[in-house]
Amino acid sequence: MNRQILTGAIHIHTTDSDGTKSHAEVVELARQAGLEYLIFTDHMTLQAKIDGKEKFYGSMPVLIGYEHNDQDDCNHYLVLDSDRVQPSDMTAAEYVTAASIEGALGILAHPDEVRGRDARYRSYPWTDWEVEGFDGLEIWNQMSEWMEHLTFYNQIMMVLSPRKWLKAPTSRILRKWDDLSQTRKVVGIGSVDAHGFLYRAGPLRLTIFPYKVQFKSLRSHLILNESLSDDFSTAKNQIYSAIRDCRVFISNYRWGEAASFQFEIESGNQSALCGGEVRLGSSTVAKISLPLKGKIRLIRSGQLSGETDGISAEFQISQPGVYRVEVYRGRRGWIFSNHIRVLP
Ligand SMILES: [Zn+2]
Ligand SMILES: [Zn+2]
Repeated sequence: MNRQILTGAIHIHTTDSDGTKSHAEVVELARQAGLEYLIFTDHMTLQAKIDGKEKFYGSMPVLIGYEHNDQDDCNHYLVLDSDRVQPSDMTAAEYVTAASIEGALGILAHPDEVRGRDARYRSYPWTDWEVEGFDGLEIWNQMSEWMEHLTFYNQIMMVLSPRKWLKAPTSRILRKWDDLSQTRKVVGIGSVDAHGFLYRAGPLRLTIFPYKVQFKSLRSHLILNESLSDDFSTAKNQIYSAIRDCRVFISNYRWGEAASFQFEIESGNQSALCGGEVRLGSSTVAKISLPLKGKIRLIRSGQLSGETDGISAEFQISQPGVYRVEVYRGRRGWIFSNHIRVLP
């Protein structure tokens, strides 16, 4: 099997909504940053897809979804792998259900966003947790985390060195994700939420998170079962299948290139990667290896189950549950895997 890790960025805005660069300009910046795929999600429009901008740019597959929001501008929802923008007067429950029925891939965007330390910026959280039919959630959204840390006093520093402030996904969202994953697959992705906004700090006008800087921070690495096809519709299917199947891990490139990270659980003659499952046996072991030293934490169903420092680790597993890995460098979150399920 020619397994391939495909590294890219999800949740990007262009001048089709409130971003500041065109598709072609953003693609060029992503290529320079070393990304291998992109997924654009402008607000409430698939015009770029209609215009034929969903295609290979050189060897980079570029996919186009959109971001839905409700009438209060909450419950932002990434609708991927779809040809239709749902009606704008729907409730969150209605557009999540409608997109699901049509076979779209749906991701809750910045679901636990908290802002409000700076009164100029409101937050856009997910509020309707009764909804069913979504496929995943952003466990780490760069824009949200940046905004959560922002205060009147640190704003200049934060604008000048935006990546430094990214620490880790919040414990709130990780708990929610671990809970949701008890009963079904729920993919966790990292999002750049790239706009290239202008920010006003006193007399200064600065671009916060230029696209190029964002492309060197949160990355979603997809585990493809076979190497990426050069046929576009096959390649697109490979990307969306990996996301639906939770074959994903997330990294902050600021703390090191992470594409060669490996997390596997072996049990007798079975083995599984992110998104997979194995049956608990007499010798079930989680194996993790890193490109650089870090603090490796194995999480079982929301609880810390093992922790060590190093470049690799092995943990014996004696209980069923959903297992995932977090890696820190210093106090900074570096790599967050999706779950592997260990069945009783
Ligand atoms: Zn949003
Ligand atoms: Zn957005």
